[in-house]
Amino acid sequence: MMNEPFSYPNNFLRFLGTGGARFAMLRQMRKTGGIWFTYGGLNGVVDPGPGSLYHMCSATPPLDPHELRAIMLTHRHLDHSTDINVTAEAMTGGGFEKQGMVVLPEDSAVGSGPVLLKYMAQKVGAVVIAEDGRRIDLGMGVTAEPVIHIHHGVDCFGYIFRKNGLRTWGMISDTRPLKHLAERYSECSLITLNVTFPNKKPRLDHMSAEDAGELLQKLHPEVALITHMGVIMIEAGPEKFAKIMSTPQTRAIAARDDMTIDLDTLKAYSKVDIECRESSFLPIDG
Ligand SMILES: [Zn+2]
Repeated sequence: MMNEPFSYPNNFLRFLGTGGARFAMLRQMRKTGGIWFTYGGLNGVVDPGPGSLYHMCSATPPLDPHELRAIMLTHRHLDHSTDINVTAEAMTGGGFEKQGMVVLPEDSAVGSGPVLLKYMAQKVGAVVIAEDGRRIDLGMGVTAEPVIHIHHGVDCFGYIFRKNGLRTWGMISDTRPLKHLAERYSECSLITLNVTFPNKKPRLDHMSAEDAGELLQKLHPEVALITHMGVIMIEAGPEKFAKIMSTPQTRAIAARDDMTIDLDTLKAYSKVDIECRESSFLPIDG
């Protein structure tokens, strides 16, 4: 344990929530604000679900939503998207500074019920529609490659983030297990994975811990972080699933709310709002 106040690494992820799916969200069993990233000088958030803006503003050390330059959506479901407009308003300084990019699937942006409100789309610097495999230049030399997912009839993508000289990190969102994931994410040293429940449910377009374990056997990232957990995962204790998913090459970690990952060292930190505590790697208990 260190006594100096915690400060964020140069490149990091912070979980503004690790809960997912309808009932874990509605009960706020865990926070549901998505993932903040600071990567190669670029600040962004992926999937600003319920509470996202609040969890940025109340984070210790603080995360300033005005400093955001990328807001990324994997899909339009409420547990991923409710705070997209307020975070966009914060990114644009209340709508007075036309800056930053919103990246989202087509059906989140257009049609009769876009989740990004039309007036807000005009206030941000740019709105970019994700297309499978087409790399998006987010600025500061950072690119995001959308990876097509299949998820209950909505347009849904994961993303792979790259910048020269930095580790490649990928996020796999809500999807049924798909063959191409093992190829597309193969260069990622760190992957965040939405794992909604423990056992396979082929009828549902979500990954179970079993599915995620099989995928990690093929992908071998150095670190895999499990997030977007549903009620059954949370109640069962996700750490035990992470332990099972770990391999000699991959350290799987059940993410916790507010956990911060150093994207250079791949160390995980928890409870930074009380005092800096570098968590032991696996499992992270206490
Ligand atoms: Zn969903």
